[in-house]
Amino acid sequence: MALQDCIFCKIATGQIPCHKIYENDSVLAFLDIGPLSEGHTLVIPKAHFEKLDQCPPEILSGVIQVVGNVSRAIVSALGCDGYNVLCNNGMAAGQEVHHIHFHVIPRTSGDDVFTEWKSGSCSKDQAELLANRITQNL
Ligand code: 5GP
Ligand code: ZN
Repeated sequence: MALQDCIFCKIATGQIPCHKIYENDSVLAFLDIGPLSEGHTLVIPKAHFEKLDQCPPEILSGVIQVVGNVSRAIVSALGCDGYNVLCNNGMAAGQEVHHIHFHVIPRTSGDDVFTEWKSGSCSKDQAELLANRITQNL
């Protein structure tokens, strides 16, 4: 179902134009308007779901299939070295458009798209407690 004020619903229904890469009945891929690198593409379900964990598995699997196909096409077309697939969920994670989307971000060795990945640490005891807490909520 489309949400009236959602920009990606408007793109999915053709009310706002986009540079389309691919579409089928339930999935749309299009170029990001503010690319982090050349070819930065967004892949969305046409139906509105806010976050990944709210998207039904049968729709999500179709979206992920398109993410894979589009990523392969991007690498072939642009000759990049790799790509990041990113899905921001929630404001704290940087989600600005609240309609689930996967970023496919082409990468070239030495580019400065993501300059920092700050690794933390976790003791064995902490890891065991954490794993238990999460597992109990599955
Ligand atoms: P988020 O921060 O929610 O993960 O990413 C939202 C992405 O949507 C941003 O990369 C932004 O450039 C892109 N975006 C926002 N509005 C539009 C639009 O109207 N058209 C297109 N093609 N991309 C958009
Ligand atoms: Zn939407």
